[in-house]
Amino acid sequence: MRQQAFAQNGAVAVQAQERARDILLKAWTGGKTSHAYLFRGPTGVGKRDMALAFAALLNCQNRRSSESCGQCPSCKKLASANHPDFIEIIPDGKLIKIDQIRELKKVLSYPPLEAKTRIIFIADIHEVMARAEVANSLLKTLEEPPADTIFILTVDEAAEILPTISSRCQVVPFYALPVEIIKRQLMKRGVDAATAHTMALISEGSLGRAEALAAEDLLGLRRQIVEELSRLDIKQPECVTIVFDLAASCAKLAHLADLLDLMELWIRDLMLLSATGPESVVLNRDLMYLYADSRKHWNMEELSDKLRLIAQAKKELLSNCNKTAVCEVLFFALLGPV
Ligand SMILES: [Zn+2]
Repeated sequence: MRQQAFAQNGAVAVQAQERARDILLKAWTGGKTSHAYLFRGPTGVGKRDMALAFAALLNCQNRRSSESCGQCPSCKKLASANHPDFIEIIPDGKLIKIDQIRELKKVLSYPPLEAKTRIIFIADIHEVMARAEVANSLLKTLEEPPADTIFILTVDEAAEILPTISSRCQVVPFYALPVEIIKRQLMKRGVDAATAHTMALISEGSLGRAEALAAEDLLGLRRQIVEELSRLDIKQPECVTIVFDLAASCAKLAHLADLLDLMELWIRDLMLLSATGPESVVLNRDLMYLYADSRKHWNMEELSDKLRLIAQAKKELLSNCNKTAVCEVLFFALLGPV
């Protein structure tokens, strides 16, 4: 018989990640829970939610069969990610520092405060492992964790897994979420059906990304930018002010990289339309009314040039360049007819 969901009222992503859930449940029911797991998959598909739900299952005070109750103090604390024995190592600044690993080791030398099984959660382990000192210190802990502790590490699907990590962990795969699930979640938060559908398509199976799109109205801003860039002519006097204003608004965004991803998808749509024709290939359905004009302006070579410019801007943002300046340079380069 198929296993039940292992968390009552669990996050929707947890319910959708059947493969990961099955692996964890099978290990737990067989008494063979690993001391370290590596959750691998795209960002924003429920890896952290799954870690919290697994912690709830392991520690529920009122467990029924293979489900946590969702009501006991342990379940409630984990549902709000506020349990003293669910320890999340969050980068101090951009990276995890060696002092944080030293502090973790100190904590591990004591038993859990409340839980039967303590969870140590570290996201994006590929970034942590890029620093040799931190990596070596963490690997030693992973080799011999206390019996009452489980490590859950996450890694992006595109990142290379170091053998030193994969040999110490059981890998659990996560997948992109179905469009319908993301759409439903967005609609529950008040996003209208048409916008939710576009966001779900654009987010490529990542609920985290879809939520970021909704939080900063990135779709609205993307539409404004695409409208302006498709319409403006650099010879028009108002062009400079409009581009500077747009760049200033974008520089304030917490999810600027996601906005640039959206702009990549806009160019991708134009390339696919130019190459193959059918409108079904378009992800930004709500921009169709602009596409006819844009296609007249740019040929394939120019479009591919624009893709390269966006990729370049993304790289510059990663290396801490001035955000406003990066956006200004990019938007002038992406301008429409000259
Ligand atoms: Zn419970």
